[in-house]
Amino acid sequence: MVSQLLKDLEDVLCTSIKNAEIKKNRLADPDYCKKAVALREYANVRRLKKLSNGVFIISAKELKKLYSSPCIYCGSKNSIQADHVIPISKGGVHSVGNLVPACRKCNQSKSNKLLSQWKRDNKNVFIR
Ligand SMILES: [Zn+2]
Repeated sequence: MVSQLLKDLEDVLCTSIKNAEIKKNRLADPDYCKKAVALREYANVRRLKKLSNGVFIISAKELKKLYSSPCIYCGSKNSIQADHVIPISKGGVHSVGNLVPACRKCNQSKSNKLLSQWKRDNKNVFIR
């Protein structure tokens, strides 16, 4: 009973802290709402594109292997993310065959470019 009351109180406090933070962000940045809407629309478009390209189940074992491997582009072991070799926006599927480990820096630099485009734009890219 008491623990439920404490949990409810915690939920109320968390919600009000979250709301206060959103209000603070809105006041600090007049374009906050526009940016939030644009981000949500981008996420929706990306999700739909991903679904229409094809989504395959990726096992926990495969994910563990992916995230424990070094960056395929530079060899770094820091901030490993899953990179879609053929970007979702260019028709790539969300499957193990299209995912490689990439550090955050390489993943952000590659963005939604194909490997050939990325290599052409960055002469120092070396794929291991
Ligand atoms: Zn890298």
